[in-house]
Amino acid sequence: MGSCRYCGRGAGWFRTSHPGCRDAHRSGLARMVDLAARAAERPEFTQQRVMQLLARLAQECYVADEDLPAILAAGWHISAMNRTVDGIPTRAETDWLRELRESQFTAVATDTHEEPALLTAAVAAALATSNQTPRLERLSRLLEQSSVTDVAGHTLLLRAWERAVLRLLGDTGIDLDREAALLRYAHHFGLDDGELDRYGMLRQIIQGAAIAASAAGLIPHRMTFQDIVVASLGLHRSEQPVWLFDDAEYRLGPLPSDRSAAITGVAAAGRPPPYYPPQLFAGRQAPSDGLETVATGRMALTNHGLVVRSATADVTLSYGSVHRWQPYQDGIGAIMAQPDQPERLAVFLNGDGWFTYNLARDLAAI
Ligand SMILES: [Zn+2]
Repeated sequence: MGSCRYCGRGAGWFRTSHPGCRDAHRSGLARMVDLAARAAERPEFTQQRVMQLLARLAQECYVADEDLPAILAAGWHISAMNRTVDGIPTRAETDWLRELRESQFTAVATDTHEEPALLTAAVAAALATSNQTPRLERLSRLLEQSSVTDVAGHTLLLRAWERAVLRLLGDTGIDLDREAALLRYAHHFGLDDGELDRYGMLRQIIQGAAIAASAAGLIPHRMTFQDIVVASLGLHRSEQPVWLFDDAEYRLGPLPSDRSAAITGVAAAGRPPPYYPPQLFAGRQAPSDGLETVATGRMALTNHGLVVRSATADVTLSYGSVHRWQPYQDGIGAIMAQPDQPERLAVFLNGDGWFTYNLARDLAAI
């Protein structure tokens, strides 16, 4: 019987978590990011107070201490986005964010029970796209010579890898060279797929590489599809599936008038702006008020558009009919406009806004 990855108690056959623990974890993460975002905007929140509140939430919601830097970074990103007019930060805003992050990151991320120098060297080795092998070998020797135990060394290598991934995802995105370097590092140190994916980062690397391909004007082929699944989508002859989500919901309705809480999405026509990091999406749930659920089922992104197939209704939305995209944490919004008609909002909820937004936007521009 598997044990729950959150509370550690038995979860039942073929299960890795209790639904209740998973939901508590997810909502806890969202609340922590929200708290970090509010704290970044208000000087009266002292750092000590923020950390106390975060630590308490973390304990209640099965969030690991080592996730705190990422949560703070996500919160700061949101507060930076709230300060921008069009959702795309200016140079000054980016600089402000970096300063804020560095001043607090160093305070938070200080490792007391690990060797900071080893961790830094390991992050650099995971990110090295040239001369990587000598770096990896040198790191192995450094670890052997250190007082760090094998178990602690393994954890350190894993955490360094996760930091490297977070840094890339939060910065430039992951291209093929970076993806190869990260995987070589993991292989060299015998990190297995299960542990690499404990926070879904292995999946994010593959997704990041798919985004990089589509941004370069190529149809990504990172996901393999069973023929029977492709047949069930009923695509056009020249249409290729790019990514599948097993469980998605499609909502449709008038564009909500109160958009103060949303980032303004990008225009669908024309060159898309560069890669958007995951932090930008955190804490921005898709609206449900005023929208009607039309279909619930399998969703696909194709080279032509977005489709949802369900028992009750089939939805097909071509990229050409989208006026603007709207990013959400839990999905993507497509705003459609027709002359003399109010704008309408279509929301595809699949739990992965970062990936869907970057990929759809780039595929639409191919
Ligand atoms: Zn549990």
